[in-house]
Amino acid sequence: MKKLRILLVISLFFNVISNAQTIKSPSEFLGYELGSRFTRHHKVIDYFKYVSETSNNVQLEKYGETNEYRPLYISYISSKENIKNLEIIRKDNLKKTGLINGNSTSEIGIVWLSYNVHGNEASSTEAAMLTLYKLITEKQEWLKHTVVIIDPCLNPDGRDRYVNWYNQKKSNPYNINPDVIEHNEPWPSGRPNHYLFDLNRDWAWATQVETQQRLKIYNKWMPQVHVDFHEQFINSPYYFAPAAEPFHEIITDWQRDFQTKIGKNHAKYFDQNGWRYFTKEAFDLFYPSYGDTYPTYMGAIGMTYEQAGHGKAGLGITTENNTELTLRDRIDHHTTTGLSTVEVAAKNTTQMLTEFSKFFDNSNLKYKNYILRGALEKIEKVTELLDTHEIKYYAGNGKSVKVLNYHTKTTNTLKILENDLVIPTNQPKGKMVKVLFEPASKLTDSVTYDITVWSLPFAYGLQGFATETSIDLTANFSKSIHKTLKNQSSKNVYAYLHKWNEVSDAQLLGDLLEEGFNVRYSLADFSVEGHSLKKGTFIILKGENRHILNFNEKIEEIADRITKEFIPVSTGFVENGYDFGSSNYPLISSKKVAVLAGEGISSLNFGEIWHFFETQLKYPLNVIKKDHLSRISTTKYNVLILPSGFNASKKQLESLSKFTSEGGTVIAIANAINNFADKDGYSIKIKKEEDSSSTPKIDLTPFDQRERNYMKNSITGSIFKSTIDATHPLAFGYTNEYYSLKLSATSYNLLENGYNVGYFPKDSKNIAGFAGVNTLQNISNSLLFGVENKGKGQLIYMVDNPLFRSFWENGKLFFANAVFFN
Ligand SMILES: [Zn+2]
Repeated sequence: MKKLRILLVISLFFNVISNAQTIKSPSEFLGYELGSRFTRHHKVIDYFKYVSETSNNVQLEKYGETNEYRPLYISYISSKENIKNLEIIRKDNLKKTGLINGNSTSEIGIVWLSYNVHGNEASSTEAAMLTLYKLITEKQEWLKHTVVIIDPCLNPDGRDRYVNWYNQKKSNPYNINPDVIEHNEPWPSGRPNHYLFDLNRDWAWATQVETQQRLKIYNKWMPQVHVDFHEQFINSPYYFAPAAEPFHEIITDWQRDFQTKIGKNHAKYFDQNGWRYFTKEAFDLFYPSYGDTYPTYMGAIGMTYEQAGHGKAGLGITTENNTELTLRDRIDHHTTTGLSTVEVAAKNTTQMLTEFSKFFDNSNLKYKNYILRGALEKIEKVTELLDTHEIKYYAGNGKSVKVLNYHTKTTNTLKILENDLVIPTNQPKGKMVKVLFEPASKLTDSVTYDITVWSLPFAYGLQGFATETSIDLTANFSKSIHKTLKNQSSKNVYAYLHKWNEVSDAQLLGDLLEEGFNVRYSLADFSVEGHSLKKGTFIILKGENRHILNFNEKIEEIADRITKEFIPVSTGFVENGYDFGSSNYPLISSKKVAVLAGEGISSLNFGEIWHFFETQLKYPLNVIKKDHLSRISTTKYNVLILPSGFNASKKQLESLSKFTSEGGTVIAIANAINNFADKDGYSIKIKKEEDSSSTPKIDLTPFDQRERNYMKNSITGSIFKSTIDATHPLAFGYTNEYYSLKLSATSYNLLENGYNVGYFPKDSKNIAGFAGVNTLQNISNSLLFGVENKGKGQLIYMVDNPLFRSFWENGKLFFANAVFFN
């Protein structure tokens, strides 16, 4: 027995030696000392490829590609035997979750390390290379019962944006003075991806290609531990688990305890080296779309680690205590926590796997099913999201159950219809179902890092119900119920009609305009040849499209491209409503749309608009530098979008005034409205807090409670019900109520001179999510969507950004209306 152990130690020793001798370190491979330069993404991938070709402990897999065509890779690191059996280990791991049937026998833990989701937090990808090297040369012992998955860079486009810029601007030798250019990134920074989305807010909504591709492979593996490596301000100490409150109530005691265990192990190494660190204070576990919460709600120990540095630090910078923070320091800290994480997992495999299995028993959740009802195209959108997360759903079974109604907050009996979508919680991913679909998540602490509500029925504009009763569910939800009408090109056609309900309808309209069709839209409801149609329906009259060759075929081709069906009619004589020759069917002019970009503008909001036009509307957008605003005239453009954060100079305000006076439409989003608020010639006004007392306000809140007191005046993302004037073209496709995600405590008075298309009525209260008590009175009778005429043109105000993170699906049509119906 003893002899055997000695032999084992010797063989392990030689294994380590031989690996260390044959495998080049990152510095040896790259030809420069790690930390002396930032490594461009393709060189990082070269190193990972090299190691996987040289070592028996590593296998590389390409899982996707970014918008800018950079490859996305993960690397599997484990013992030689495990690497040979990866597929068996993977399936066995899924058996522990119930996602695959059968008994799980293996005792191998999965630890997933994700680096550089924020592109300018660039030390972590460097650390990924060193961590890979150390695992296979020094830490082989840990790999016997662990598969480590390293994603060296989740956001290569952002990383290279930062690294290329830094390499161009840096002094030689580098300069540690924080004032110099190499420490001050231009707009937009390297943090977000190509479309300027924050990928660390996108895990649950999966609006970005990087996330979509990553989730496919993540769901195939379902690790027990997931770490997301970040960087923060240059003076901050290192942050690691345990996380801060609020914790979502779904998080188990085991998950809390194990992250503390991991944190204590990190602390041991940081203590030895005299490095500063903190835990428990800043980064909570609530909003489900982060790289720590998403894995947590999928059963893992999900953690964020934060090193000081990010886009500010460069290769070295002076910090507040007059010491230099170097890239090498940052790499060492991230490498230490990465390895320490693997160590704790490797030493606690049995317990970790047992507890992991338990997480997936969801038979005790209070609500057994969530039921969604509404327009089928909206429900289909939800099913697409559920498919992305590999969550099961069913069609209604026609039976009656007792439900909690989200909108009325009352309990009543509901007959579940065949077209209702039913999502049971008694499935492996039941806890995530609860997180995404419950009306509001329980908030244990109002001081949080992000929005406090995201309930999907509200986000998708659907009715939501929750039931404590089990329902026997067998029928699959059929996705194509509404796609029964076929396009029938007909020689006798007088006009083609199309409904206006969703963004893809706007895409269809955009294509028609692009192809040169004359298109009209209806200002009133009507019925023709037995079809009842709502206002907003658009109409293509054959008679005024003679310039289109092969009219019928062309219509059919465009409809097929977007899988849409037109309604052909053979007459312009309308049964109810106005005939097609009426002025109630205005012509839609072809839209030339511009958006401003540049320093000072919210890159996130700009990115949301850009992404919306390119990937959803698929309609051309002209991105104009904000300093070139004077070039935007009505001879070239008819719609100009001002993203949040745009702050016009006096001269620019004059240009905007000229543009609208001459017939242009300006869409101002969120605080871009402030350019016009309280200014002469505009009726928009910031709503001031009503204060009857004349005594000056003296704040007696104790020092240590000021942060909490501040929350009384803030909104961190909560849902309010608004009243909509659905007869106005800006609201076509909507009913007279809309649930808005309110993101800011700033409110505006109702317009005295203009259309209050959407507003929060008197005594509005947050339906769900956190809103400070002092903000509520200001929301009462305040504006949500407003239209103000100016000369021949108009201003459209959007107080709440309907494109926020591209996940509030039900708001997007407002944006399309603003573009096309003005
Ligand atoms: Zn970050």
